[in-house]
Amino acid sequence: MIINITIDGPSGSGKSTIAKAISKDLGITYLDTGAMYRGVAYYVISKGIDPSDEKGVLGILDDIKMDIIYKDGEQKIIICNQDVTPYIREHNISMAASTVSKKPAVRLKLVELQRKIASQTDCVIDGRDIGSYVLPNAKYKFYMTASAEERAKRRHKELLEKGKDIGYEEVLEDIKKRDIQDSTRAFAPLVVPEGAVVVDTTNMTIDQVLKYIKERIC
Ligand code: C5P
Repeated sequence: MIINITIDGPSGSGKSTIAKAISKDLGITYLDTGAMYRGVAYYVISKGIDPSDEKGVLGILDDIKMDIIYKDGEQKIIICNQDVTPYIREHNISMAASTVSKKPAVRLKLVELQRKIASQTDCVIDGRDIGSYVLPNAKYKFYMTASAEERAKRRHKELLEKGKDIGYEEVLEDIKKRDIQDSTRAFAPLVVPEGAVVVDTTNMTIDQVLKYIKERIC
């Protein structure tokens, strides 16, 4: 039987760090669904379309042929045979991803691919709607969160380490805006999924979170 472990939560809550560690530990696939929405946002922008332009985005949706591949254990987002992974972590792509992800047609297209992958392989899959909408019957469901200030601190540090000096205040503002946009959208918003174990990581180290989650997966 295929085992799916879902981890949902707002940005900066530590989902991807924990999901990666668990997938490595258990030797199963890690599917980062945020990267898929980022890939769509990057493609939309690269075509000169504003991410909030509903008609424009829907007009090119069918052109987007997305493949997920793994190279040296790292997930790569391939769109129309181009590896867009190096470009999707730019600061402007975060908000653009949140904007394109509001559109039900965009979500349905990516959800189809997510469900297909999850039905074929044991995986840890993180995002905003995985335990609530994509895989409501997953065996293990987690919801990770932390205060907006702590999440902004983490994201700010991460950006600095990549040589991107975006002010803490701007990162905090962006996180708060995305929180609102992601949790108030009409279709598949960010919610605590029914039956999910909630983990508030504000005052926890990565090792503590990992231990806590691993103790609940048997
Ligand atoms: O997790 P990450 O910050 O990479 O996600 C980027 C954006 O993609 C989120 O702000 C959210 O709007 C969207 N997203 C989503 N559903 C998911 C994963 C990400 O709406 N399952």
